[in-house]
Amino acid sequence: MDKKLRWSERIRETELLGPFKRSVLWVFGCCFDCDGCIARNFRYGDFNETSPEETAEWFLTCGTEHLTISGGEPFLQAEALARTIALIREKKNIGVIIYTGFTHEELLERAKTEPEISSLLSQCDILIDGRYIKELDDGKAYRGSSNQRIIQLTERYCGTAEEYYSAPVGRKIEITLNNEKTMMIGVPSADQALIWSRIKGLSGDGGSGEE
Ligand code: SF4
Repeated sequence: MDKKLRWSERIRETELLGPFKRSVLWVFGCCFDCDGCIARNFRYGDFNETSPEETAEWFLTCGTEHLTISGGEPFLQAEALARTIALIREKKNIGVIIYTGFTHEELLERAKTEPEISSLLSQCDILIDGRYIKELDDGKAYRGSSNQRIIQLTERYCGTAEEYYSAPVGRKIEITLNNEKTMMIGVPSADQALIWSRIKGLSGDGGSGEE
């Protein structure tokens, strides 16, 4: 039987976490403890659990052609995610971006002995890698700190990715209502993260963030 996937949030559509309209899945649980992590509610507490089949079906109702996976740490659930993407791609040839706290080199090393890591890596088109390092947070869009790299693993986003990621924009976030909870989407600046924590304090509900 397929391993179930533990996840914290998912949204049907945004344009903030990669080229084109994308659905986003934030998985639950992380093996790192980066100082300044804004995704603490994806690491502790409650989570949802669905099979790869159910998760793939959810994606296919979203109407997008692209999926971003973040968290939490996606490669802790490599088997369930690889299976989910494979099921989706049986029906739709989607593009996949993964935010991970591991470096690409660490994943390649582990992939030598862990087939599920190899399988998930092989299905990923763009990997945004590395731990968040507060001291290296330079305010540039799409990743939290300057050590994190945007690595194109396939040809799928050739051209579009360069244009999207090199656009001279600062940090952008969306605050949205998702299943009656306020939710932040995007990679926030320190000021945006502070404002968000105040909003959460006022509303008393959960929230979410990004690497
Ligand atoms: S910033 Fe990302 S990798 Fe680091 S602890 Fe938070 S969720 Fe994990």
